[in-house]
Amino acid sequence: MGIILNLHEVHDPFWLENILCFLKKNYNPVRQTELTSLCKNGNEKKPICHITVDDGDKSFYKAIFPVLKKHMIPATIFVSPDLVINQRDFWFQEINGYEKQKLLRILSDVIDIDENNLNKFPLVDIFKCLTINLIWEVIDRYKMKYQPRKKPCHSMDVNELKEIDNSGLVTVGAHTLRHPILANEELTVSKNEIISSFTGLADILGHKIECFAYPNGMPVLDFGQREMDILKDYGCSYSFSTESGNFNSRSNLLSIPRYGLNCGESRLYFKNKLFFGAQWNKIMKLKPGNESRNRKAILRIIKK
Ligand SMILES: [Zn+2]
Repeated sequence: MGIILNLHEVHDPFWLENILCFLKKNYNPVRQTELTSLCKNGNEKKPICHITVDDGDKSFYKAIFPVLKKHMIPATIFVSPDLVINQRDFWFQEINGYEKQKLLRILSDVIDIDENNLNKFPLVDIFKCLTINLIWEVIDRYKMKYQPRKKPCHSMDVNELKEIDNSGLVTVGAHTLRHPILANEELTVSKNEIISSFTGLADILGHKIECFAYPNGMPVLDFGQREMDILKDYGCSYSFSTESGNFNSRSNLLSIPRYGLNCGESRLYFKNKLFFGAQWNKIMKLKPGNESRNRKAILRIIKK
């Protein structure tokens, strides 16, 4: 048995060190390639754990990587070659700081819907109901009309990624090109987003990429059997979701569960997640205004 953690941005190395010390005490941190063999053996003294970090934010290089090296804890990062090469942001990073009403007005023009019907929902949840081309059409129109101030890029650059890859401590995995909600896309777009992220990273790093994390990562809502088949046909060894739960020898290697962990969360809150295991996501879905409920309601409005 084991657990796999999923982090994004971390700007507080002391918080991370505290969490890693808890992990080292209670779990056996392993490399990604050891996940299945150690799980099958089952004779380890402690359950295994593996750290994953999505999106390739610069804070991985600046804050997370030094702590991992200090404690010799292996990890996997999931990045987009498009962002690394072109030093661009994902759409949800780009709209951060944009004015909601102005963006909604453009969106309502593009998809021909009354903006008042969508006003009560968080902008990010609305965008997660669109295709990636529509998302960027709305963003490009906003940029043209309002000329927002250029922000520093979130993504690590090629040299940083190569240094991390060469460390031998961190595995680099694919995470699509533009972070679409794959379930919203036509088959050709979904396939291209997935395969091109593998080949693009292989071109940068000079070796094959073996693993993948689904953008946003909730089974059914964000990806389905179609995406798992694309990955299986490509020869991907491990694909990770964001569904909570433990990893064991019976886990589906094309939809491996992970426990999300946000910078600043207390150990107690983290332990609660581990205690509830696969039930944690279900409990979170009961909360009013959660993303899953919002997106279902938004889709009903859009499809009317
Ligand atoms: Zn992501």
